[in-house]
Amino acid sequence: MTVAALSTPKAAGGLAVIRVSGEDAIKITDSIFLSDLSEMEGYTCAYGRITDGEEIIDDVIVTVFRAPHSYTGEDVTEISCHGGIYVSERILSLLYSVGAVPAAPGEFTKRAFLNGKMDLTRAEAVMDVISAQGGAYLRKAENVREGHLYRKISSYRERLTKLLGSISAWIDYPDEDIPEVTDEAVIRELTLIRDGLIRIAAGYDNSRIIRNGVDTVIIGKPNVGKSTLMNALSGCDRSIVTSVPGTTRDIIEESVRVGDTVLRIADTAGIRDTSDIVESAGIERALARAENADLVIAVFDNSEAFTDDDRRICEVKANRKIACINKSDEESRFDVSLLSGFDSIVHISAKNGDIGDLSGILSDMFIETADEFLINERQKICLDTAADRIKEAIDSIGNITLDAVNIVLDEALYSLLELTGESVSETVVNEVFSRFCVGK
Ligand code: GDP
Repeated sequence: MTVAALSTPKAAGGLAVIRVSGEDAIKITDSIFLSDLSEMEGYTCAYGRITDGEEIIDDVIVTVFRAPHSYTGEDVTEISCHGGIYVSERILSLLYSVGAVPAAPGEFTKRAFLNGKMDLTRAEAVMDVISAQGGAYLRKAENVREGHLYRKISSYRERLTKLLGSISAWIDYPDEDIPEVTDEAVIRELTLIRDGLIRIAAGYDNSRIIRNGVDTVIIGKPNVGKSTLMNALSGCDRSIVTSVPGTTRDIIEESVRVGDTVLRIADTAGIRDTSDIVESAGIERALARAENADLVIAVFDNSEAFTDDDRRICEVKANRKIACINKSDEESRFDVSLLSGFDSIVHISAKNGDIGDLSGILSDMFIETADEFLINERQKICLDTAADRIKEAIDSIGNITLDAVNIVLDEALYSLLELTGESVSETVVNEVFSRFCVGK
């Protein structure tokens, strides 16, 4: 089946690109195009006109890709036409009238996967590369698209296969000259593999943060400069500040980009409106939010002495905590050595737009530490399942036969093959690609 779809956004623009893929891609495109494409080699293009009977639709460039050297691994043409919505729709309906069918969401990438051009982790990363909003996200997603995760998983998969092989040989040919497989050696290797998989799975939390932004709560006494800091942060990149309408207040969350890190700052209206953040109702609310947040930024006033309220702020429990000593432009009365419980301390002057090295600190905290990047929960679940099965196998060695251990390890292996898509049900594949957009 030859499919066609618009691969650029459905909006007026300088150019639009229509992609056609499948056995008859070149023949179908040729039949609506006035120049001859049939003899063209892959990676070449032709200028010509698309007509509907007597009517001229557009002057276009057609690029030809021949199987298997194309994105999908099939014959592909890409028609670059003028970027009008009507023009691209006309060309598409012409293509449909001569034998192409509309491509489903993600169908080009799905075909690339099914034709062995990329494994499932790379295919899934394509969508993230497209939706990346910041440099860190793009870098990490590109890494996966380029095969980093696939190679890591493959190396663990190979080790597991090798172990399964030697266990089987040991069981099946006890009389032959097969190296002995001891319980200790099997447990040692399985533990190493499991630890490796757990390490990769642990990257999921940071991946989520890089993708969605750091869920952040700003706390501090009245007048220390919380709203001024908020304004200074927004000033870092106002273009991506988003406002989510709340029910009782006008803004409940804002996203700001600080260097490479996107912070989602909760309840900014609260920061702006209230000065009660250490008073009963305020502190209760802030505490509850802080505990579940990825990050708490506590603001202190450099021009005032450390107080009991500041101590209470030090005691707030949170996953990560940064202390911002604000008003560093003023004479210091604040004793920094009394602070405790913070991952980092930074001196700032929010009023002057000076946020010190906050951007470097955030990057070290949330981006550089994330050596593994997982694209989605599916990948995490496959890793968790494999690690659980291996644990089950380790725990049962000595209690059940090695044959039975092998069966459990087979399930672990299947999870890894499912992760890379080397052995995966059609339902999972369809589910993965249904989240893509049409034309990708
Ligand atoms: P909030 O109650 O914590 O939100 O504090 P605000 O942001 O409203 O600031 C309280 C006061 O501190 C205002 O008068 C600000 O202009 C002042 N302020 C904020 N940041 C700085 C700073 O970096 N240096 C100085 N000198 N004053 C600041």
